[in-house]
Formats: sequence, structure tokens, C-alpha cells
Amino acid sequence: MIIDGKQAAADLREQLSKQVDQLQQEKNIVPGLTVILVGEDAASEVYVRNKVRQTRELGMNSREIRLSADTGEEALLARLEQLNQDKGVHGILVQLPLPAHINEAHVLAAINPEKDVDGFHALNSGRLLNGSGDALVPCTPQGCILLAKRHLGEDLSGKHAVVIGRSNIVGKPVAILLLQENCTVTIAHSRTENLAEICRQADILVAAVGRAEFVKGEWLKPGATVIDVGINRIEDAEGKTRLVGDVDYRGAVEVAGAITPVPGGVGPMTIACLLKNTLVAARRYG
Ligand code: NDP
Repeated sequence: MIIDGKQAAADLREQLSKQVDQLQQEKNIVPGLTVILVGEDAASEVYVRNKVRQTRELGMNSREIRLSADTGEEALLARLEQLNQDKGVHGILVQLPLPAHINEAHVLAAINPEKDVDGFHALNSGRLLNGSGDALVPCTPQGCILLAKRHLGEDLSGKHAVVIGRSNIVGKPVAILLLQENCTVTIAHSRTENLAEICRQADILVAAVGRAEFVKGEWLKPGATVIDVGINRIEDAEGKTRLVGDVDYRGAVEVAGAITPVPGGVGPMTIACLLKNTLVAARRYG
């Protein structure tokens, strides 16, 4: 089975759209998301454009702030402080990566945690780890769980989940979410020994490695649910670039019970979960 992330994202947006209407009718609150883009990274421009368009389609307020690549850290922090104080802004997202002269950690720490719809602020990471239920949860990991449930149903308990990758934005939070779903979780990384053997034990395999077609079909347990987070651009034999995941799709699709494609898997869910977080922030703190 191919887990259709585009359809899953469309279904989620449809639910969110109803909830946005409801919030407006009951409390006269229109959720508002502001995205800040510093510089002119081509991939970031595409992501920001998609985020802005989808926010508007859902009936939310959307604002895009574009700052030149030479914007100083102080100027960016001052801008964030204005947005932190602005009552019409429920979600603030600073598109990463930032130009090298800006310290990413300083910027993420300066976003009001109640408006931190990317879920990267240390307070939200801590809340997620504590399981206190009030975290704004990073979007891509949320999307991974929703896609796994689309195939396996709501109850993931007892499944052995193997996560390859331990970044703060994908690997670690997805592992915590799987733990909260009562999975038995193994986190693998670049120093892991016998990786293929560990992957073969996975009922759910999440690949967040950042290496094109790294996970091979023969590493999978037959019937496993494979969530491929990777987005890698490679050149084919004719010199054309195309997107591939961290999993060797052609080999994996023969063995897996279900798999997310790239593109059209985790990617669309990430934006839908960002919209969800904006709605959550508006409901909680609006
Ligand atoms: P990072 O580069 O921050 O992390 C990669 C992780 O993979 C690290 O923990 C690293 O281990 C591990 N790793 C690297 N090489 C190996 C190896 N040979 N064996 C085992 N583990 C290895 O990447 P991100 O987490 O930010 O992103 C992962 C992928 O997901 C990328 O392709 C990225 O483009 C994609 N992505 C997709 C999103 C979406 O919306 N679909 C959103 C965000 C990311 P170590 O810690 O030891 O270095």
C-alpha cells in the first residue's frame, strides 16, 4: 500500500477549515500565521509560498515578511519581538536555514513559545518530552505519526518503531511521539552498528537521514510500515534532477506493507500540521 500524503493532508486541511470557521463564529478569532524569510534560498522560497497559499485557502490570516540576506541578528530579533506582542499573530515561523551570520539558536529562543508553531523552542521540546500535553509539536514528526496511523489505525501500541536520525527537528521528536503512542522505540544514528539488522526488527521504520535512497529493501521486515522523511535532489542518467527519499523506494515497495512516497508523502503533511499548530495556538492563546 502506498500511503498517500497528499490525500491525508487534504483530509486534514478539510477538518481544519471547519474548525477555523467554528473558532471565528464562536470567539471571533481568525488564526494568523506570519512567516519570516531572510535571504533568497530557492528551496525556502518555494516552501514559504506554499505555506502562505495554504494558510489563506483555509481562511486564516497569512503574512509574509521578507528580509534581505544582510539583515543583522539584532534587527531580526527586534522584528520577532514586535510579532510576539502583536495580538493578531498566533503563529510565527522563521524559515530555516538562516544566513550564516545569524545564530539560529538565538532566533528560535526569541520566539514566544505560545506562538512557536514550528515547535522548536526549548520550552516546547521540554513539554513534548514531559508529555504534559501542552506542547506545540514539530510539524514533520506530527505528520509522520498521522501517516503511520493512516495505515495501521489509531493504536500503535506494542509496535517496534525504529527511527533513523536524531535531529532536534525530526528524529528526536518523532521518537518521543512514537513512545507516547506506546511503541517500543529504537533511535539509530551515524554511529549505530548493525543498522540493517536493527531496521529488520522494525514494524514501523522512520527514515530521517538526509541521504538519498540510503535504506534498502532488504533491510526491511516484510510488511513493515515505512515513513520516508527524506527529501534529496539527485541527478538521473540523463542529467535531470529529481526528488528521492532516504529509502530506496523501488526495493522497499516490494517488501514493505505500506510506504510513503517522495514526493507526496511526509512533505504535504508537514505544511498541513503547521496549519494545525496555528489553529491550536489561536485556540489556546488567542
Ligand atoms: P540532519 O542532517 O539534521 O540529521 C540526520 C540524521 O541522520 C543525524 O541524526 C545523523 O546521525 C543521521 N545519519 C546520517 N548518516 C547516517 C548513517 N550513515 N547511518 C545512520 N544515521 C545517519 O537531518 P534532518 O533530521 O533535518 O532531516 C532528515 C531528512 O529529512 C533530510 O533529507 C531532510 O531534507 C528531510 N526533511 C524533510 C522534511 C519534510 O517536510 N518532509 C522536513 C525536515 C527534514 P548523527 O546525529 O550521528 O550525525
